[in-house]
Amino acid sequence: MNDHQSFYEPLDDNELRDHLRLSLPPTNSRLGWQLDEQQILGAIDILGIELPVRIRFMTTKHGDSLGTHYSRKDWHRVTIAQNIIKPGRASEVLWHELVHCMQAERFAKRTGKSINQFHKEEYKMLDGDWGSSYQDNLLEIEANKIAYQKNINYRLCKEV
Ligand SMILES: [Zn+2]
Repeated sequence: MNDHQSFYEPLDDNELRDHLRLSLPPTNSRLGWQLDEQQILGAIDILGIELPVRIRFMTTKHGDSLGTHYSRKDWHRVTIAQNIIKPGRASEVLWHELVHCMQAERFAKRTGKSINQFHKEEYKMLDGDWGSSYQDNLLEIEANKIAYQKNINYRLCKEV
């Protein structure tokens, strides 16, 4: 097959479906590691996430958050630090944020609401009374435990 023919070849259903489910940053991380698309698609399946996930890099300082999850109306936005963590740790952080995607969809299925109500109506409600118990939030504990267990044998980021 020459380049001319391949240029006109339509996207196949699998390619199209994968791109709708997962969008990744176009570059490697600043430290040179890379997000592993096929592994992340597998993780999305493992966690039963159905809505699209868009992952973007962020640049962060030591002591700041290494990852974030935001529920939009019908898709998830995830960011991950690209400049201060190695791929093994980055993979665990990404697992953690993907668990938040799963939690938001679990909330949506149970309540019939959009995932964008998850943070206010469920996540924040599980903070402690004194506003300082982020680490004790049940959903954080769940995300940390699943991320730790999964990341032992299943990595989402790799050295290039
Ligand atoms: Zn978290």
